[in-house]
Amino acid sequence: MKLKICGMKYQDNIEHVASLQPDYLGFIFYEDTPRHFDTKIPEISNTIKKVGVFVNEEISTVIEKVNEFNLQAIQLHGEESPYYCSILRSTELFSDPEPIEIIKVFSIKDEFNFAALDPYENTCDYYLFDTKGKLPGGNGYRFDWSLLNNYPSTKPFFLSGGIGLDQVDDIKKFKESEAYKYCYALDVNSKFEKEPGLKNISILREFINKLNDKKTMNYNVDEKGYYGEFGGAFIPEMLYPNVEELRQNYLKVMAEPDFQKEFNQLLKDYVGRPSPLYFAKRLSEKYNAKIYLKREDLNHTGAHKINNTIGQILMAKRLGKKRIIAETGAGQHGVATATVCALMGLECIVYMGEIDIARQAPNVARMKMLGAKVIPALSGSRTLKDATNEAIRDWINNPVNTHYIIGSAIGPHPYPDMVTKFQSVVSEEIKWQLKEQEGRENPDYVVACIGGGSNAAGTYYHYLHEPDVGIIAVEAAGLGVDSGESAATSVLGKEGIIHGCKTLLMQTKDGQITEPYSISAGLDYPGVGPMHAHLCKTGRAEFMSITDSEAMNAGLELCKLEGIIPAIESSHALAIFEQKTFKPDDVVVVSLSGRGDKDLENYIDYFKI
Ligand SMILES: *Cc1c(COP(=O)(O)O)cnc(C)c1O
Repeated sequence: MKLKICGMKYQDNIEHVASLQPDYLGFIFYEDTPRHFDTKIPEISNTIKKVGVFVNEEISTVIEKVNEFNLQAIQLHGEESPYYCSILRSTELFSDPEPIEIIKVFSIKDEFNFAALDPYENTCDYYLFDTKGKLPGGNGYRFDWSLLNNYPSTKPFFLSGGIGLDQVDDIKKFKESEAYKYCYALDVNSKFEKEPGLKNISILREFINKLNDKKTMNYNVDEKGYYGEFGGAFIPEMLYPNVEELRQNYLKVMAEPDFQKEFNQLLKDYVGRPSPLYFAKRLSEKYNAKIYLKREDLNHTGAHKINNTIGQILMAKRLGKKRIIAETGAGQHGVATATVCALMGLECIVYMGEIDIARQAPNVARMKMLGAKVIPALSGSRTLKDATNEAIRDWINNPVNTHYIIGSAIGPHPYPDMVTKFQSVVSEEIKWQLKEQEGRENPDYVVACIGGGSNAAGTYYHYLHEPDVGIIAVEAAGLGVDSGESAATSVLGKEGIIHGCKTLLMQTKDGQITEPYSISAGLDYPGVGPMHAHLCKTGRAEFMSITDSEAMNAGLELCKLEGIIPAIESSHALAIFEQKTFKPDDVVVVSLSGRGDKDLENYIDYFKI
């Protein structure tokens, strides 16, 4: 069932509502309502259809508005005749050649004569059933939906009229009724407002979350490499053989007992797993909840990234590869890759933007000590995306002997799934560790920061289909979500293609990827992995944005309260406790993705220590 959110008014609010990825947004051009729309529509995802709502308007005005605001649908709330509707269906009237959708509204009170629909059967695309009230729409109460059991048509309809958070159960019941058969979308408006036209994002999110039945949703990848509508493999044809070889083999190889044995042995003896699940007593006292830290910072090389590189190097060996390539931005993934190449005696080439090489000297030195060759990317902005291009070029030229190790839950299928599965050891351990300490496997919440999303994917994995476990995803807001200097993809991102997969990413109107910013190098990424885009769209995960200063303060606080210096990435996850209040007996597990040694200089500069 699709969702239309109607009565949009304010530009910032429109952007935030659009980040929830509804299917339709409604703009009311009727003047006699507090929700009258009279500004500009900001850039929003082109997967969201913009609907103009009119009441007995002059046809020429409707056409003008459609062209001016690039609307994809017209909703007619007055006594517009079938003839009026049929005129508007003519595509020649509009600058966009795509046919426009016509939605004709009918208001229902205690009864409804469905014969009224007959003349409109061939002149509109959808009906919309609303509650008859004083105003045309936005009255805030609902009609008796069982009247729709007599719906005589097969035309899909929108259900509207006072739908709110308190009706989720009724909507679920409605889904089982005869009337639901042709229900195409829900239309919501006044019940989700702080004031007329200003929508309440968190209540909308909760509504979407509750409506998408968490019990029946699938959050894992499907056979084609999709998480809902995100994922896939969008790659140049020349790369197809490489990716296809991996796709055909990865699950088979991972299931081999011999592979499992070697992987688990290395995780134990080389990485130092299981990483402790530490009950942070003083932090818990301060925030009045039971806070556990999953100590990925204690892994060899200081972060979760090694779990994935160990898995991928074993995969590469099984596929007969002799040469490893990787790209790195801050150098963390480069170091984790160089480490496993040294361990296995394989040639290692790391592509890194020239600018990043200068900024991240200690990690460049580490990679070199470990025997890797660091090749500067000299084109473009000489940062991560240029390094990625170089790595892809290399892989195209060396399809037979080379494996490309991607460092996060991103890239073309099967990478996001493969990386997620290698990282899933994190939640696998949390389950038994929590059982030992709390007597139950499921916490109330799991929390992780998201760059591309690999530590988060690992932390969530075994809880994705446990609806009683809340999932919190923490993004870097940089200098602030609206500052133009951030990496808050869930708020600012739109659907697009990056690094070979369809996901949410920050981009300009013409599809240019926006330069992200965060004080933390690991979160400075313009997209999120496709699994997280799906978790965001379905409302399964709650996304929170944390600024540089909030993260830095939370990092320093952990030093003082628990004697642990966290990576700045992980500090973002810790900062949510200042924003969100938990119940005293809530068990909250936070992924402490890495240690702060690499960030000391940053902390020292920031706090003038
Ligand atoms: C790289 C990194 C991240 C971000 O990457 P994800 O793939 O989103 O996990 C987070 N924390 C640390 C410590 C990192 O090194």
